[in-house]
Amino acid sequence: MKDTFRHKGLRQLLVRTIKRKGIKDENVLKAIGKVPRHLFMDSGFLEHAYQDKAFPIAADQTISQPFTVAYQTELLKVKKGDKILEIGTGSGYQAAVLCELGAKVYSIERQQELFKKTSKFLPKIGYNVKKLVFGDGYKGLPEDAPFDGIVVTAGAPYVPKPLLNQLKIGGRLVIPVGQDSQRMTLYIRKDEKEFEKHELDYFRFVPLLEDKN
Ligand code: SAH
Repeated sequence: MKDTFRHKGLRQLLVRTIKRKGIKDENVLKAIGKVPRHLFMDSGFLEHAYQDKAFPIAADQTISQPFTVAYQTELLKVKKGDKILEIGTGSGYQAAVLCELGAKVYSIERQQELFKKTSKFLPKIGYNVKKLVFGDGYKGLPEDAPFDGIVVTAGAPYVPKPLLNQLKIGGRLVIPVGQDSQRMTLYIRKDEKEFEKHELDYFRFVPLLEDKN
């Protein structure tokens, strides 16, 4: 579990890459520059940790591409102390980036194997998320709502209603919507009933599946 000068150097190159691809928020870039992504990946892929690419993790899932993580995080506009809900904990990388921004992080994962692995791993490297839940992200987390932001890190065939309902007024939902490829969509809650919708770039995510496993 080492984070060497070499890792730190590669990470700064990664930050430069995603900046060149269009990420502007300095706090997000700083957070990407801090999280030791190589520790979130299986050893066979270590040399790939600081390329701007998605990679396989346990249970047939992937750790998202750093650019995608930065893109979604930028859209959330996280302020220190914000309550953020993530759907799809996976490796915990996105959760760690949110922790670096000072968010109180809640995250749901439907794969038990991943849930267990990541629940042990994150505190071990110093990321104290508020709550990790083994459950179905389509339902959100009503007992801890409302949230300042919700980020869905799997491709959603449609926008689950509970997630919109669990936003604070002014809160933001960042969700990739679609089947084969997904359009990044941002919802901003204006009041009880009204949401502003922004449709942005296309991405490819693993699917958001119903029910836990
Ligand atoms: N945020 C992760 C990327 C995970 S990939 C990271 O930074 O590594 C998407 C994850 O969403 C997978 O782990 C998958 O198991 C999970 N997932 C899929 N459908 C889900 C659902 N309905 N509820 C919660 N998690 C789900």
